[in-house]
Amino acid sequence: MPRRYRCSALPRIMACPASATRPKVRIDSDNVAGRIGSAVHKALAMAYLSGVPDLPAIAAEYRVTPEDITSLFWIGKNRLGEYADALDVHRIEHGLVRDVPGTDITLTGTADLFGLTKTEPPLPFVWDYKSGSQSTNHRDQLIGYAFLLYGEEYATVKIMTAWLRANEVQIDNITPADIAAWLERLQHAIKHPRTFRPGDHCGYCPRAHECKARTALIRKSAGDFLAIADKMKALTPETLAANYTRAKLLEKVLKQFDATLKDALVYHGELPMGDGRVLYLSESPRDKLITDKVIEHCALPIEKLLPAMSISKGGLTDAIKAECERENLPKGKTIKATMDALRDVGAIVTNTIKSISIRKGESNGK
Ligand code: SF4
Repeated sequence: MPRRYRCSALPRIMACPASATRPKVRIDSDNVAGRIGSAVHKALAMAYLSGVPDLPAIAAEYRVTPEDITSLFWIGKNRLGEYADALDVHRIEHGLVRDVPGTDITLTGTADLFGLTKTEPPLPFVWDYKSGSQSTNHRDQLIGYAFLLYGEEYATVKIMTAWLRANEVQIDNITPADIAAWLERLQHAIKHPRTFRPGDHCGYCPRAHECKARTALIRKSAGDFLAIADKMKALTPETLAANYTRAKLLEKVLKQFDATLKDALVYHGELPMGDGRVLYLSESPRDKLITDKVIEHCALPIEKLLPAMSISKGGLTDAIKAECERENLPKGKTIKATMDALRDVGAIVTNTIKSISIRKGESNGK
């Protein structure tokens, strides 16, 4: 009986072969990030077929908020729109299945979009939306789609990853040599089911709750970080960088703890802390101002209100799009022209936000 794996599990399986083995006890955990991803994918597929869908209805269907999905949806739609003239899309949300030679596994997956580039000669491409944070091992999933779709038939397959949170499309060219090397690593992983390699890929592993290797790493990391808590500034930059993955693993565990505790408080009400104090969920109201109603009903004149107002880029983009639909104008070009004109008069300023990211390769640091 062949074992079936989804391409989306490959980055984890190839990083930690033991994670391909089914857990002894299966736990269905409610994964909000997964539901946001599914809702965004559904909205983008519907948008491709029939225009902008009812985002609040899709959000409700997946038990997330419209805010969780709206900006990710528009980024995905706009990023794909930029390639509208360059790609000939053949299928969207297409289920794929194929046996992997040299193993007893059947690989499955759903390609968000695939088809041919409008270049000469045309090249096959696979497009994948990612609603989570950027990672370096997503390539193993995308090569999986290239393998399922095209095997080793083409000299080059373009894999295009739309990182929605980073608002960026990453393009890689895959050759038959890449697919052959990927197959070799996959076959090796499947043949070594007792090799545990805990790391930041443990997050959504179905074995996480019963995995001794992950527990050991967390224990050791917690002890190590507590031991250096008051000496962090004395650590070398290299030591800080080398411990980043372990710190993120601990952060995830603490976030999981927080979410589980909140669920317990929702279910049980107040809970004793064991030292004479109790934990409870407090509620604090947050006012939200509805701009047009404020302008209409507030006694202050508009020029006095202006300093208190802010316009979000997403909100402005939505307004331009709605106007384009009314006036039958091209959305992409109109948005770009409007934004360029606003930038020229200093109405848009760009601030750079620094965040910690990971890439493969040598350091070029000072
Ligand atoms: S929890 Fe981590 S170490 Fe354990 S099997 Fe899963 S991926 Fe591997």
